[in-house]
Amino acid sequence: MIQPDVKTPPRVLCMSGHDPSGGAGLQADIETCLALGVHALGALTLLTVQDTHNVSRVQPLAVEMLDAQIAAVCADAPVAAIKLGVIGSVEQVHCIAGWIDRLQVPVVLDPVLRAGGGATLAGQPVARALLDELLPRASVATPNADEARLLSGDDDPAAAARALAARTQGGVLVTGGDEPGDEVINHWAHGGELQLHRWPRIDGTYHGSGCTLAAAIAARLAQGLAVEAAVAAAEQAEHRWLVAPKRVGGGRLVPGRCVLQGTES
Ligand code: PLP
Repeated sequence: MIQPDVKTPPRVLCMSGHDPSGGAGLQADIETCLALGVHALGALTLLTVQDTHNVSRVQPLAVEMLDAQIAAVCADAPVAAIKLGVIGSVEQVHCIAGWIDRLQVPVVLDPVLRAGGGATLAGQPVARALLDELLPRASVATPNADEARLLSGDDDPAAAARALAARTQGGVLVTGGDEPGDEVINHWAHGGELQLHRWPRIDGTYHGSGCTLAAAIAARLAQGLAVEAAVAAAEQAEHRWLVAPKRVGGGRLVPGRCVLQGTES
């Protein structure tokens, strides 16, 4: 009898939506985790109808269904970090807050409110609940500049990053990919300090870049990196995947996180 060579990668519990195009949402989380050597446990929050251009429908799952998914995987496997993507209702926020308190592991919150194509993914009541219940439980939050403005009420990304970071357990990375300019400037606020992370702008528009970055931070936290190092490593991974993207459909490009090599026969 052959003894299998069993691997035990750290498990990241991803609570995210389904994107049938495979660019964003839970598939982005799974591919990112796979590329970085951790295993994604996936609890779906909502279904969408979308392509690489935009989202046309959103259907949140019943909170009991989300709770049951999380309960099943948590009873079976230890969770090393949690990644939160789009959340479908205020009831889901309450449920997730309860699980965070029980699991006591690092949490990466991507406060998704709107798709890059412009469609609303989460309304004002969910935004309020994210701010009140999930931001204070987050080790890292990764709003884009518009989400940071909406959540903080502050127009300036630096001030927004500082204000939001003060409400977290760790830090806030306000991403600047959707802002104008020759450079992409991410504002990292952590421990009362603010750093500007400058990246050369890459031509093109992307679908799923925010999900990818947040999942990469969660993967690195699950592997034991400290918050600051996890954020830096994730930004580097994201940059590598944005300069070598995938063309999936006729709309935006998808980060090349898991480009198939076709090596299995
Ligand atoms: N669909 C789902 C399920 C998502 O989680 C997200 C972003 O987090 C999106 C769509 C939008 O992604 P993007 O704005 O990168 O197109």
